[in-house]
Amino acid sequence: MNGIEVIEVIRAIGSRIEAEKEFLTELDNVIGDGDHGINMARGFHAVEEKLNGLEDKDIGTILKMVGMTLVSTVGGASGPLYGTAFMKAGMSMAGKTKLEMEGFLSCMDEAIGGVQARGKAKQGEKTMLDAMIPAQQAMRQALSDGKDNRAVLAAGVAAARKGVEYTKTIIATKGRASYVGERSIGHQDPGATSFTDILEVIAQGI
Ligand code: ADP
Ligand code: MG
Repeated sequence: MNGIEVIEVIRAIGSRIEAEKEFLTELDNVIGDGDHGINMARGFHAVEEKLNGLEDKDIGTILKMVGMTLVSTVGGASGPLYGTAFMKAGMSMAGKTKLEMEGFLSCMDEAIGGVQARGKAKQGEKTMLDAMIPAQQAMRQALSDGKDNRAVLAAGVAAARKGVEYTKTIIATKGRASYVGERSIGHQDPGATSFTDILEVIAQGI
């Protein structure tokens, strides 16, 4: 992918988030404060407005802009967390004008590291990490098995979806959802869901 294609995918992520806004908000209504879809949509609308004029920029600059915009426009926990994820991914792509699968997996490593450093959560606490980490592991495995890009991303999406299912079975111990304790069981995590939506769009973009 080149910078223009990355911008197209980011626009497509914004459209998907807009389409999922109500569902994500409903999910957050049950175990949080009912704003996840609204937060994400607000962030990606702001991103959308800043994408014009970035066509000739390197991919690192584009991703950093996405991250900084999410941090500065989204009030909830997800803004700083997704914002950090995109900023870290951007730093690993600094100066690069082509994104290959290996580079994408490095972006994912950086994004996960950033979310963990910022949110102090680990796998199994009912957060976006429960979709991100298994997706990353499945993609690394698929790549080392010699799968093509399409199959690598399909493996990531399948693992992320499984991760979302897994979040239904566990209690939230981080973020607002931790306030509802046992009652969070049976409900999927909004952030794990939105990450899976984003990865699906990236997979479709390949
Ligand atoms: P808020 O919780 O501030 O209302 P959102 O509703 O936008 O923010 O986002 C909630 C999502 O953020 C959760 O579903 C979860 O996936 C994610 N999240 C919350 N806290 C953490 C954390 N410490 N580490 C990773 N992800 C987190
Ligand atoms: Mg919320």
